[in-house]
Amino acid sequence: MQTETPGTAETTERPEEELEDEVTEVEGTPETGGGLPSGLYLVGTPIGNLEDITLRALRVLRTATLLMAEDTRHTGLLLAHYQIRARLLSCHKFNERSRADLVIERIRSGASVALVSDAGMPGISDPGARTAAAVRAAGLPVTVIPGPSAVTTAVALAGCAETPSFYFEGFLDHKTATRRRRLHELDGLRCPVVFYESTHRILKLLDEVEEELGPDRSLFLARELTKKFEETVQGTPTVLREHFRTHSHKGEFVVILLP
Ligand code: SAM
Repeated sequence: MQTETPGTAETTERPEEELEDEVTEVEGTPETGGGLPSGLYLVGTPIGNLEDITLRALRVLRTATLLMAEDTRHTGLLLAHYQIRARLLSCHKFNERSRADLVIERIRSGASVALVSDAGMPGISDPGARTAAAVRAAGLPVTVIPGPSAVTTAVALAGCAETPSFYFEGFLDHKTATRRRRLHELDGLRCPVVFYESTHRILKLLDEVEEELGPDRSLFLARELTKKFEETVQGTPTVLREHFRTHSHKGEFVVILLP
């Protein structure tokens, strides 16, 4: 088993309140003016450390006509940090389908629409994919502004040197029987398999891996990547359960099932 805990890092907290559905004005310095060609811009944002954002992302957020955000208050904190003032409109999993028509209409009338999720890349286990597909199907331009993603961050950190490939599963289904069946299907891949998991189900996942795939399977866990309490732990489910008896398992996890 190995553990690492790096130094301090700025973190973004996920607000608990309900998602807002109206336009929110964010205070800060005035926008520097337009100049962005009309279209949809998928913008990567930090997965924890607010410094993990590109210059291009900041420029697009500053100059887009309209900003669509998974949670307007959450993104408001990022914008305030960089003193960006923007018109924010919500775009989350409950309204993304209906928002697509609005985005297309706005782009047709010349708008540059930037879309961000709460963290990382839009469309990766997050809203954004439906909007991108709809805008492209309408024959309008879609541009990506790449940024961090928890999957690539964890795979790089794990250093899976034995195989050139990995498989990204994202979140397993919440239903126990479906999760267990899926673990067996993925076991046939013979390469590292990457899952997203929350603090609520991480211990359950360890039990499931042990019971379905055997007690000797090794997992690499990356918790709170780029944040103050970033930690990695590697070992069998028994070793990892033992670790969490004395260490917190709060926060966000990327789980890599090693082949
Ligand atoms: N779009 C994001 C991306 O590109 O990585 C993923 C969003 S998904 C709703 C959130 C999940 O990603 C979390 O439950 C966790 O599994 C993973 N995640 C996001 N940020 C993380 C972090 N800082 N450390 C570990 N896992 C993280």
